Amino acid sequence: MIQRTPVRIEARDTSHLPEHGTNSPENQSWQTILSQSVSNPEHLLDRLKLPTETWLEGAKNGHKLFSIRVPEPFIERMEPGNPNDPLLRQVLPIADETVVLPGFVRDPLEENTAIQTTGLIRKYHSRALLMVTGQCAINCRYCFRRHFPYGEHKLSRDDRNRVITALSASPEINEVILSGGDPLAVNDRLLSQWVDLLDTVPHLKRLRIHSRLPVVIPQRVCDDMLAWLNRTRLQKVLVVHVNHPAEIDQATRDAFKRLKQAGVTLLNQSVILKGVNDNAGTLSELSEVLFDAGVLPYYLHAFDPVAGAHHFDVSDTDAASLVRQMLETLPGFLVPKLVREVPGETSKTPIPAI
Ligand code: SF4
Repeated sequence: MIQRTPVRIEARDTSHLPEHGTNSPENQSWQTILSQSVSNPEHLLDRLKLPTETWLEGAKNGHKLFSIRVPEPFIERMEPGNPNDPLLRQVLPIADETVVLPGFVRDPLEENTAIQTTGLIRKYHSRALLMVTGQCAINCRYCFRRHFPYGEHKLSRDDRNRVITALSASPEINEVILSGGDPLAVNDRLLSQWVDLLDTVPHLKRLRIHSRLPVVIPQRVCDDMLAWLNRTRLQKVLVVHVNHPAEIDQATRDAFKRLKQAGVTLLNQSVILKGVNDNAGTLSELSEVLFDAGVLPYYLHAFDPVAGAHHFDVSDTDAASLVRQMLETLPGFLVPKLVREVPGETSKTPIPAI
């Protein structure tokens, strides 16, 4: 029997947090929380009581390549004074980001070749990816789109009409995936308009949303969002993105519950990341915590070799071995599919457990 590394999710020291009062995140709108996200490396280090003499130079250099952005509710789940906190590692730029290594490239999935019209990416037969914004609520250091030219994909009203025309002319597409950036970083008025337009395309059956926002700012699941979700005729799937069990707190669980009550199917995708979740104990605990919160583990993505993030790389062999260990302790429905996205392939490529 292979031993699992036990994961302890301990009560965190919250003495570094502001007193809960009218300004605490739980009393603020998601827009206010988003606008007050930490976007300065020094502030993040101060906030987490980490020595600037050790971390600041690397953080500033990484920040120049891909800016830092972390919302308060996510910071609250980190352990102060711990530079290896698995949530902090996902968002703190470090000196390694400036190291250039062969094989780590700006567009590892070659998405630029799959653009059909501004904002619309076609990679697979029956699904189309709609990039409604380049903005995210959190900038994840390992993101395979960290170099994506979002500025070239701002959607005007004409672009929106072109997207709907392209979708209407493609009867094989039955599912639209709202992506970005993070599509839920867009205001509900605009999302509501998009959903009304998509509703008019008769062959569309499903609306899928890929978002990290309900996790990093649970307040995002607000009444305005639930209104358009409840109104659409499309089946709704929300794929959240959680890499470590400590990302899920009570506010996140409450947000998931509201989504489920609105008829949304909840799935999770994770990325296997060195120093964050590259052990079977953490991944198994993540599956358990997700399922307890009403979310089914869906994909475990092999790391995409994006420039500036090589320090997160886990080999496919090691990842496959971790999944094998998960299979030995979890029911099959709690073991996510380990996949790699290979540019030009017509689906994700499964990596068999070994
Ligand atoms: S697209 Fe997703 S993974 Fe990339 S920075 Fe935004 S939230 Fe993070």
